[in-house]
Amino acid sequence: MLIDLRSDTITKPTPGMLEAMMQAEVGDNVFNDDPSVLQLERKAASMFGTESALFCVSGTMTNQLAIRAHCSPGSEVVCDKLSHVYLYEGGGIALNAFSSVRTLEGNRGRITAAQVEEAINNKQDIHLPVTRMVSLENTMNKGGGSIYDFEEIVKIKKVCEQHHLKLHLDGARIFNALVETNESPMAYGNIFDSISICLSKGLGCPVGSLLLGSEALITQAKRFRKVMGGGWRQAGYLAACGIYALDHHIDRLKEDHRRAKMIGEILSQKEYVKSVYPIETNIVIFELAHEMLASDFASRLSEKGLLCIGFGKHLVRFVTHLDFTDAHLEALETILNNAS
Ligand SMILES: *Cc1c(COP(=O)(O)O)cnc(C)c1O
Repeated sequence: MLIDLRSDTITKPTPGMLEAMMQAEVGDNVFNDDPSVLQLERKAASMFGTESALFCVSGTMTNQLAIRAHCSPGSEVVCDKLSHVYLYEGGGIALNAFSSVRTLEGNRGRITAAQVEEAINNKQDIHLPVTRMVSLENTMNKGGGSIYDFEEIVKIKKVCEQHHLKLHLDGARIFNALVETNESPMAYGNIFDSISICLSKGLGCPVGSLLLGSEALITQAKRFRKVMGGGWRQAGYLAACGIYALDHHIDRLKEDHRRAKMIGEILSQKEYVKSVYPIETNIVIFELAHEMLASDFASRLSEKGLLCIGFGKHLVRFVTHLDFTDAHLEALETILNNAS
């Protein structure tokens, strides 16, 4: 039994999802007449209470489209130093939006309103890039799936309003946060100028992300998406997966969180583990003891049939997901018991 905990992106469509794909009505999305894509976009927009939505190929694309729309050349984006938009999008902020980044040191990836306020440049000073937007990530991948305190988000929004800054949410795993906090997507839709959500992570779709925001933002983003080569045709087959996932795969994320916590308990008893990050959702990050290299540990585990990724010199990440069952958890425990 192969256990793949490299990412929650590795899941394969379930039989129900494949069936939804088979039944999908499709058209040409570049001509704006693919009914399944339109249905998915309306569904997501109404969940979050935004005017509009745009179905795209990836979360990188939806994040980048938002940043491109909010910024102009010479702008600056404020975010935590562990942010996906900064670390893992190929320098897209510079490439796509000709803008710079001000990174802040948050608490496992979460920044505060006070930190944001302090990072805003004086507009009158011509030496400085123009602070234009703030980007938050919830849950925070590199922070170990940590969840933002909504009260802090509200405070950050106030600072943004005072300084005329746009507020973006990288919500690749927003549903993991929502099922834990019982907050409503609407609360998020109300506060953020743009939200990126991923269907291809915990929700188990093969491909797809959505950008949510105002009609004006989405109109602009659609134009940039086309320029990037992101106009797609019978995308309805993929949109059908997304509709299915929003209907069937949100509540079950709690299962992933339960299993992640159990993995954390196993790991915290191992002498080869120095510490485990607090586990709030489906991401488990732990530090190896005895200066052991994450790459060596990961390759040792892979020989035993457990795949994971190094997340720093001595840090290892496990991500639980739809295709990781209790049977896998049992097998994983045996492997971890024999991993030293
Ligand atoms: C996965 C992820 C994305 C988007 O990744 P894609 O692979 O481009 O879909 C964005 N932000 C975070 C925090 C992610 O984990």
